[in-house]
Amino acid sequence: MLSVNLTNIESKYNLSPTVVKGVQTELLDLRPTDVLTKDKLARKTNLHPDIAETILIDLFKDKVLQLYIRVYCNNEDYAHFVWFNSLKEYYNADEDFRCPECGSSLNWKNARVGFKRGVFR
Ligand SMILES: [Zn+2]
Repeated sequence: MLSVNLTNIESKYNLSPTVVKGVQTELLDLRPTDVLTKDKLARKTNLHPDIAETILIDLFKDKVLQLYIRVYCNNEDYAHFVWFNSLKEYYNADEDFRCPECGSSLNWKNARVGFKRGVFR
């Protein structure tokens, strides 16, 4: 069975066993295409979104999670979104990059961070 070692995070943020179990469950339930956000993790574990985000970033640094950036396009009828597979890809993106679906410009200010499962040891 897969497991995620959360011992470091547990002691670093002084998390209760219930919260640790909740985080663990969320991580293990992630399918390869699922995206976990701080708000979702916060909702599922009753953590404050800021703490949830800090934990997610720690897990990203540990390579347990991969980081994605989602940017919406400026289409007035229906905003599509474009995923960037890393911060590097996001920062290196051409400002004139257009939405592949409709050709609109991208709303760079409205970028959201999401996480996908990485390597579980
Ligand atoms: Zn679009």
